[in-house]
Amino acid sequence: MELDFDPEALRAKYRAERERRIRPDGNRQYRRTVDEFGSHADDPHTEFTEREPLHDSVEVLVVGGGFGGLLAGARLRQTGVESIRVIEEAGDFGGTWYWNRYPGIHCDIESYIYLPLLEELGYVPKWRYAPGEEIRQHAMAIGRHFGLYRDACFQTRVRELRWHDTDLEWIVSTDRGDEMRAGHVVISSGTLSQPKLPGIPGIETFRGHTFHTSRWDYDYTGGDANGGLTGLADKRVALIGTGATAIQVVPHLGADAAHVYVFQRTPSSVDVRGNRPTDPGWAESLRPGWQRRRRENFLKIVTGVRADEDLVDDAWTSTARLQEKLIPTNAYAGVPAEERELAYEIADFQKMNELRARVEAMVEDPETAERLKPWYRYMCKRPTFSDTYLQTFNRPDVTLVDTADSHGVERITENAVVVGGVEYEVDCVIFATGFEVGVSGVLSGRLPVYGRGGADLLRTWMSGGPRTLHGFYCQGFPNLFHLGPLQNASAVNYVHILDEQATHVAEVVAEARKRQIRCVEPTAEAQDAWVATIRRKAADLHRFQAECTPGYYNNEGRPRERSESYGDGPVAFHELLRRWRSEGGMREVLAEGEA
Ligand code: NDP
Repeated sequence: MELDFDPEALRAKYRAERERRIRPDGNRQYRRTVDEFGSHADDPHTEFTEREPLHDSVEVLVVGGGFGGLLAGARLRQTGVESIRVIEEAGDFGGTWYWNRYPGIHCDIESYIYLPLLEELGYVPKWRYAPGEEIRQHAMAIGRHFGLYRDACFQTRVRELRWHDTDLEWIVSTDRGDEMRAGHVVISSGTLSQPKLPGIPGIETFRGHTFHTSRWDYDYTGGDANGGLTGLADKRVALIGTGATAIQVVPHLGADAAHVYVFQRTPSSVDVRGNRPTDPGWAESLRPGWQRRRRENFLKIVTGVRADEDLVDDAWTSTARLQEKLIPTNAYAGVPAEERELAYEIADFQKMNELRARVEAMVEDPETAERLKPWYRYMCKRPTFSDTYLQTFNRPDVTLVDTADSHGVERITENAVVVGGVEYEVDCVIFATGFEVGVSGVLSGRLPVYGRGGADLLRTWMSGGPRTLHGFYCQGFPNLFHLGPLQNASAVNYVHILDEQATHVAEVVAEARKRQIRCVEPTAEAQDAWVATIRRKAADLHRFQAECTPGYYNNEGRPRERSESYGDGPVAFHELLRRWRSEGGMREVLAEGEA
């Protein structure tokens, strides 16, 4: 193939850029906001309300009121469960869309496939890529539609789940003094829900104003998610971080603050956004089943499964093949390994060259443009999309400060952010530094779970890794269901994945109720077989990730040896679940005679 670039030179450049950014402390560079900076975790959106502790009992208790928890509630309701309680730390439903209300917030997955239950609610989003507030309103509408507000407990954190061996139910304790009982518990506590701060020396000495993007302080900045940050008109603002969040925030800060310093360690890849209002004629033309068809079509395309048409046709679907590097599907397993790797790499270089050329075309100052160019493979970091971010650096009141050589911001003082020995005096520091990445509260240790005989779930999993059937349940912990990435298959349209999981759990619970079986728990054989399947089919991501620039996708440059995701990909996984349900698989979790 004739190439208009030198692959070897690009490989060397990528290696050199990676080396500049590798830190010896890896993931330990971050601080957990909740534990170390109380105020950064406070809820700016809802006043705290006192209430009496509850000592009642429900049929199903759901931990988490984001889309996973809402979908679990909705799907359970559809199967006829009356008594459902969602417990949520925030003041309302919405999860990530409750907490994140920063200016410019949108979802970069197409709204028609991202927002769940559109047909059930008779709703078509107003924009192709929906603003955060519309998504949050939709989450609340799901809560209302399925009657989930009735028994919900907001501003409540589950402290412990403990199985009662004789009563065969869960005892759920919370930070509000509740001690409730629940027949079944679904844990859907999110994967990017705990904000994190960088461990920058002196961070706690800053005397000006400061907050994390997931707790945006509009009392200070003025304006709202649409911008108009009038409170910043006379303020010098530091924004730390340039990930998917910062890409949306920067244009608004640039427009409204007296001066903005954007502290960048690794530039994001920034592709075309192309948002547009929904065409009413198109919305009218939609026929029943349209959302399922569209979601499944997208899922196939982004995970390398053949599809005859591309219904969504956006930047995600056009870069589909490159995404297999992060979410393995074994879809191209038939092609000889070396040929396949080279083809990937060339396609990747071409895509990244295109994105680097986009930077050059949009940013006037050549030095700034150079610093904004991403030098790594496409799926090493979360791709981003914006038609306004890069141009913001053409403003005289916006300065890009590159921190790659010092592995990030060097120091924070009482009134300044320091990089390369230069003190940038600011009034406000905003952290767009992301979230802890984990599998639910269980693996992070925030939610202790004690099963049969008082067995500690986290301890059980710490020796030899999690052991589950299909990622949902594990032996010794009856009637406990996990939603989220755990020995199952994932994809970028994560709410779709959660919906398939919620549907499965609801059907299993419905079957248990129908047969009056009180304990849902996988047999040892079924669980062992699934763990063996996961390990046997796991795609080898290690080499790709080890060569990536550090970030949360590769555990800050130290990728895990083993992938725990189902190597045949989500389309095959969903099919496997459907077959399991219809072909007698329930026998593996529903022990007859346990009434
Ligand atoms: P990220 O973790 O993606 O980004 C954190 C940023 O902070 C990175 O640029 C990181 O640099 C930088 N950083 C960390 N420590 C330092 C330091 N010491 N000095 C300087 N910079 C530092 O967080 P986001 O909130 O941007 O995004 C999190 C995830 O949320 C996304 O990946 C995506 O999955 C999701 N999201 C989705 C959106 C959507 O539209 N669907 C929109 C926004 C977010 P470095 O890269 O070098 O580590």
